[in-house]
Amino acid sequence: MSELMQKIERATSSTFFDQTGRNEGSGKCCNVMRILLEGTCSFDCAYCGVCGKKTGVSFTPKELAHGYLTLHRQGRVGGLLLSTGIPRGDVDLGMEKLTETARLIRSAGYRGYLHLKVLPGASRTDIAELAKYATRLSINLEAPNSSYLAEIATVKNYRSDLLTRHQWLAEIMPDRHSTQFVVGAAGESDKDIFDTVATSYEKYHPARVYYSAFYAISDTPLEKHENTPVWRANRWYQMDALLRLYGYSRGELTPAFDEEGMLLNTDPKILLAQNLSLLNPDTAEKSELLRVPGIGAVSAEAIVQTRKVQSVRNTAALRGCGVVMKRALPYLSLGTTRQTTFSSWC
Ligand code: SF4
Repeated sequence: MSELMQKIERATSSTFFDQTGRNEGSGKCCNVMRILLEGTCSFDCAYCGVCGKKTGVSFTPKELAHGYLTLHRQGRVGGLLLSTGIPRGDVDLGMEKLTETARLIRSAGYRGYLHLKVLPGASRTDIAELAKYATRLSINLEAPNSSYLAEIATVKNYRSDLLTRHQWLAEIMPDRHSTQFVVGAAGESDKDIFDTVATSYEKYHPARVYYSAFYAISDTPLEKHENTPVWRANRWYQMDALLRLYGYSRGELTPAFDEEGMLLNTDPKILLAQNLSLLNPDTAEKSELLRVPGIGAVSAEAIVQTRKVQSVRNTAALRGCGVVMKRALPYLSLGTTRQTTFSSWC
């Protein structure tokens, strides 16, 4: 293995990103390589593996572009998520190197997925330049507000360095930008996260919000902090889908939280469906169908189309529409009584 490939292997095994990869060009999942251009950083984000590090694996733009393109040509990776540490606090230099790397990759004819992380405090001009090469841009909010961010990172200013950039991304790359939260790093409640996420979707329309369960990394200020259970981040992806794809309002989602503002380890869609009346799939509104566990956006649309020509008030037709009957059956009126109790499905 070449020296460059060994370096890439070392760098990719130590990155802290935790996101699912999807090639937005084709819509298909792909194996995304997540890597930092600079493996050192003078910022003090206490949850981060390179926080305050003075040594780490770093690349020149030319090295990283060449290494990534080689792996892509070999079919070993399908996309790239590229960020960088910020040595000496030089955000402008970090943005310049990110842009140069992306430019080199694109100028080699690469048309695939390129998710580029904007640095906190980056200038609008630099963000616009980076956007020329990106499939997606993102800036991580990490925490729900300035008070919580101050618990885990003192250098970044929540409002000016993060929120303002979040807004710029929405203006520069509408619907093709995203953000991320480190769930549980700052002792925030899920309701705190929810308020910020709901506002973000309303005001800035990110394509996605990512949720990463905090885990303690040795030699960082939070090394003794309790890990966030993975199920909490997974529940967040379910809540996010209800907000983003299923048309639930803020008020409708509030019952998913307990009195301390935390999510329960239960599928929130099932929790919120407990008071649903039995639905007749032949006559229910699409928005009502979407509230039934086991019916997603695709199957709800299939029901609406299929019932124009035939009844869907039976198991076979619903299955044909893609409905997961095991989950949906307790909420549907198929001409019989409710088939089972709610609690057995949670
Ligand atoms: S700015 Fe980024 S790389 Fe630097 S410590 Fe914070 S999260 Fe880590």
